[in-house]
Amino acid sequence: MNSSYASNLSYVKQLIARAAESCGRNGDEITLMAVSKTHSIEAINAMAGCGQMLFGENRIQEIEKKFDTDSRSFSLHMIGHLQSNKVKKAVALVDSIDSVDSLKLARLIGKAALHNGKTIDILIEYNTSKEESKSGFLNEDEYYSFLDEVGSIEGIRVKGLMTIGPLSPDEKATHEAFATLYRLQQRSIQRHPELDFGVLSMGMSQDFVIAIQEGSTMVRIGTALFGKRE
Ligand SMILES: *Cc1c(COP(=O)(O)O)cnc(C)c1O
Repeated sequence: MNSSYASNLSYVKQLIARAAESCGRNGDEITLMAVSKTHSIEAINAMAGCGQMLFGENRIQEIEKKFDTDSRSFSLHMIGHLQSNKVKKAVALVDSIDSVDSLKLARLIGKAALHNGKTIDILIEYNTSKEESKSGFLNEDEYYSFLDEVGSIEGIRVKGLMTIGPLSPDEKATHEAFATLYRLQQRSIQRHPELDFGVLSMGMSQDFVIAIQEGSTMVRIGTALFGKRE
């Protein structure tokens, strides 16, 4: 089992490096997040044993069951939609919440973090494909008024933006969605130089090559590393 994880990991890293080089970028600019939802803690530990340092999960209940926060050797991010009533648990369990899409949520996270005596990283999620099933900010006005306020919330540290590509395998639509997030990052840097927008989390097993071509700095890969989910 260990050896297949090792080879999946090195294969995915190779694909990332190749995609980066094909558009004049350096593979080192791109962080690989292993998305471990539905996979066992044994599988996760095996992947961590191969040197993987960052994992992503999308459900708080599952994180609670699987991870022992105190003895973890790797970082863990919450990448799924976070409900208000799960904020306290999320703040206690993870290093970053990558799916923040409202002021209310950002304020609750900040409050919980201060209560725990820490500052927690966040990414702002934007719905670039406008698909209704997805979370994330849907329009720029709301997003920019969020940016006007978020810097004043204590307990959180903005690190960048996150999006999920379109469900459809249409490459043009995928390029367009990721290019939208990149443009948003560039405009956000101009409008709010006091905030950090360095992380552009976009790209999954099916579309990470396109995401890298469009400027991704963090790809979130599940299936290509762990195999199919049950
Ligand atoms: C499941 C998931 C991924 C990984 O998807 P794969 O297609 O298995 O690589 C990435 N991002 C989010 C938000 C997810 O929920």
